Amino acid sequence: NLSDRLTASFSSLRGKGRLSEADVNETVSEIRRALLEADVALPVVRSFTAAVRQKATDAARSQALNPAQQVVKIVNEELVEVLGGQSREIHWAPTGPTIIMLAGLQGAGKTTLAGKLGRWLRDQGKRVLLVASDLQRPNAVTQLSVVAQRAGVHVWAPEPGNGVGDPVAVARSGVQRAREQGYDVVVVDTAGRLGVDAEMMDQAVRIRDAVDPHEILFVLDAMVGQDAVNTSVAFRDGVGFTGVVLSKLDGDARGGAALSVRGVTGAPVLFSSTGEGLGDFERFHADRMASRILDMGDLLTLIEQAERTLDQKEAEDAAAKLASGTFTLEDFLSQLRQIRRMGSMKKLLGMMPGMGQMREALESFDEREVDRIEAIVCSMTPAERRDLSILNGSRRSRIAKGSGTTVQAVNELVDRFEAAKRMMESMAASGGGAGALGPGG
Ligand code: GDP
Ligand code: MG
Repeated sequence: NLSDRLTASFSSLRGKGRLSEADVNETVSEIRRALLEADVALPVVRSFTAAVRQKATDAARSQALNPAQQVVKIVNEELVEVLGGQSREIHWAPTGPTIIMLAGLQGAGKTTLAGKLGRWLRDQGKRVLLVASDLQRPNAVTQLSVVAQRAGVHVWAPEPGNGVGDPVAVARSGVQRAREQGYDVVVVDTAGRLGVDAEMMDQAVRIRDAVDPHEILFVLDAMVGQDAVNTSVAFRDGVGFTGVVLSKLDGDARGGAALSVRGVTGAPVLFSSTGEGLGDFERFHADRMASRILDMGDLLTLIEQAERTLDQKEAEDAAAKLASGTFTLEDFLSQLRQIRRMGSMKKLLGMMPGMGQMREALESFDEREVDRIEAIVCSMTPAERRDLSILNGSRRSRIAKGSGTTVQAVNELVDRFEAAKRMMESMAASGGGAGALGPGG
């Protein structure tokens, strides 16, 4: 995958004093291959590698610092750039309800998104109406009603009088109702097909023209690979859209679709969907996606998620410690224990630095692994947790015995933690800012 390939392409630069032109060429062609293998669209790959080449060449000339770090920093900056930098706000209607229409292939995650948006907007104090304009699939209306109920928002479904069998009439009457009753936001769910199809596109166009939406969100399954480009272009040219939502980012797709859709259509990615639950939804952060692509983990997202469950103060402390490089294994343990309450350990580990290479292992992730980590950390003295450098052979074997694990397991944990910490520190030192993290591996 992309992360592993980019990480591999950097590894040849490790230990080199400075970048030669040959180094730049080699790295750029490895990045190109990595991007292509990750199903990033060719035009995007071209402009991306051209920009990286230019900047890496400049860096080589300036003979600055550590070349691997330089390139990581350059690639990271370029990724953030292509991914669109800061995500924007929803375009709110100046008066009356804001109308958001969803478009995308069948199975992309539109109906699920309608529920997520409903809940998210409701939490911001908005009155939301979900409109069921997918009359294609037999249970589509029921599905929307169920998510609306779970989200605690209202639903407008076809009934005699508001357009049975006619998705355009349902959309129009739903928006009309929202105006009359003072709803703040209307989310119009639409039908998709398994592939791009003229009839579907025509229906979407007619719904669009009937409701005149403030936002058309194109929902794209991040797992679809090269099809992402064709599908995005077809929807851009067919119905048009103002923003993109990437769904199924909880799978192992690591950004090819995100890079392509943004690079090819220029439309901003506004949100990411990361699971089937209504809460598995957040604003899209280009910088976080970039570090995810680079397999640097996504500690900011981690901390943000943690904040929902954890004590605000503690999360702030953890963030400050990460930023200042004083995050210890003890802090890690306390985070681990609290975060565990959030469930989904697998998702969590996917966001930790250096875990990309362990993705396969994660597929069969075993909660007992966390028990082992906990046991190891608990078997250390407080002084050891604060300063891993004092861990000599006899301490390590005492810890292994105490935790019922092996010296090898202790070594692995220590190495992984130290590597992650070093990277965060070095990136912070090279001016990467709070969100910048080092390469995995
Ligand atoms: P629609 O046809 O575009 O309306 O797609 P649905 O909302 O019905 O979603 C299709 C399937 O994908 C359902 O089983 C959803 O539970 C699932 N799904 C939607 N979004 C996500 C997501 O972000 N992650 C995962 N893992 N599954 C999702
Ligand atoms: Mg649907």
